[in-house]
Amino acid sequence: MNLVIGIDLGTTNSAAAFLGPDGAQIIPNALGDRLTPSVVGVDESGTVLVGAAARELQVLRPERCAGLFKRYMGTDRKLTVAGRTFIPEELSGLVLRSLKADAEAFFGHPVSRAVITVPAYFNDRQRKATIAAGKIAGWTVERILNEPTAAAIAYGFHEAGADKKLLVFDLGGGTFDVSVVELFEGTLEVKASSGESALGGEDFTRAVAARVLLGLGESFEQVEARSPKRVSRLVQQCERAKCALSRDVVAAVRVPAPDGEFKPGTPQVTVTREQLEAWVSPTLARIELPIRRVLGDARLTRDQIDEVILVGGATRMPLVVNRVAALLGKEPRCRLNPDEVVALGAAVQAGLVGRAAAVEDLVVTDVAPFTLGVEISKDLGAEVRDGYFDPVIDRNTTIPVSRVKRYSTLVPNQRMIRVKVYQGESRRADENLSLGEFEVRGIPPGPANQPVDIRFTYDLNGVLEIEATVVATGKSVTHVIAKHAQGMTESEIRAAVAAMAKLKTHPRDEEANRFVLLRAERVFEELPSELRDVLGRLLDGFEAALAGQDPAVIARHREALERFLAAYDADGADPNGGDE
Ligand code: ADP
Ligand code: MG
Repeated sequence: MNLVIGIDLGTTNSAAAFLGPDGAQIIPNALGDRLTPSVVGVDESGTVLVGAAARELQVLRPERCAGLFKRYMGTDRKLTVAGRTFIPEELSGLVLRSLKADAEAFFGHPVSRAVITVPAYFNDRQRKATIAAGKIAGWTVERILNEPTAAAIAYGFHEAGADKKLLVFDLGGGTFDVSVVELFEGTLEVKASSGESALGGEDFTRAVAARVLLGLGESFEQVEARSPKRVSRLVQQCERAKCALSRDVVAAVRVPAPDGEFKPGTPQVTVTREQLEAWVSPTLARIELPIRRVLGDARLTRDQIDEVILVGGATRMPLVVNRVAALLGKEPRCRLNPDEVVALGAAVQAGLVGRAAAVEDLVVTDVAPFTLGVEISKDLGAEVRDGYFDPVIDRNTTIPVSRVKRYSTLVPNQRMIRVKVYQGESRRADENLSLGEFEVRGIPPGPANQPVDIRFTYDLNGVLEIEATVVATGKSVTHVIAKHAQGMTESEIRAAVAAMAKLKTHPRDEEANRFVLLRAERVFEELPSELRDVLGRLLDGFEAALAGQDPAVIARHREALERFLAAYDADGADPNGGDE
């Protein structure tokens, strides 16, 4: 089967796409939406929910849900959902499994091959965690692709033959990535990447929540410690207001009471776009340094950038557009939908992997996001000092790449050296991320300065292979960082797959019903009492219909409920609804 799916596994939203005869196309999920929120929940019956239904449940029962887990990929952090412990790979795995079910329903046959995107700034461990999550979900992960690269591919593919330099500015819910990409003669080359792994629209939403509380004489941290439900409610209100303010100049935030409920007379705070912009400006200022760094690394001035491309939902904010325009001296463009462009580019790359005829002549190259090297000792004359980091592959080197560097023994009759591998930019080895270490034995006895060649080979998936050769004997040792204990082992992945298989899930054709029910329950608690009666009756009717199991009756009641919700929840923060 040559079909390969492109997946944007986002911090906030995920999407799947494929390369069809008319170009890259988004695969809708069970609700018909083009984006699936990266949220996982476990409902009262112990059943796992993924996506929009989980996001609804998260507002009322935050302890039963997890989101933003992409931020913890590649760490040892565990997350508790409804009393059950998950590792980030499992939660991402559930999102990826849900996208797999959507793709299979869309095509009507099993699919198993995928290209999955990650922020360019993801380190080796985070990339491996993403591959593990894919495996847990049953995908064969053909390629890990940097998100800005994917976005550039989506644009490059539409502009075959173009010759220009692009700056890709991606501000999503939780991560910020910026890359300089050069397009020429059908080749797409990433010149440099930079970014921040914890900066995005969520931070803006929290800033709004904090300022709203401050205006009422309360502190966000204290409220968070006391009432998670109050925070999740407030955050949902602020998220909605923030998105509305990309379009309008004022929006309202209802502040839940200390127990998290909306009561008659709960304060309603008006937020203006001007206020929002003042509140988020200090956080948004953090985009400047990575932009300067990426231009410096690419050895370009801002005037040499032909086009600035906006990616990520947070770039819908007028302030972000203006700030980017001011920093780069030109109006940014977003001809493709900023929420979908990464998945679309991943689909083009997936087409390349699956050798779709349409993309045969497109060549894509990428860069190593960090410097890779080894720890060495330096002979400073009076003393030998160890702990220095010696680069073998420099940051932003085009990959795949293979580089060899010669090192030598320090003392006479030294029979062994220990190769310690790091990634990072510090001069001191221990300030960089340790990727692993191994020993090279069998160095023949003799004077000091026996040469040992160390070769680093870094492939397109960001997986590093190191080969050390004792020059005198020609004997070599190979060490693949991918197999090292930093990532999940195959048996750990098998155990996770088995654990996932035991989780209860709703049948796919019931997902829309679950979502509407949870959304209605969330909205119910927000309504004034006279409207509660109306919604209560609609809910009763829908629940009775569900119990009766007649599809036509269920559909009729669901539509009535949806009409009511659409009217009440009109300017909600539906990420699929914000298209300009
Ligand atoms: P990620 O790449 O992190 O998964 P997305 O690119 O989907 O995220 O962006 C999600 C972020 O975009 C959220 O923080 C959301 O609040 C924000 N967002 C979406 N639409 C808008 C809008 N109209 N105005 C402001 N922010 C928006
Ligand atoms: Mg994204």
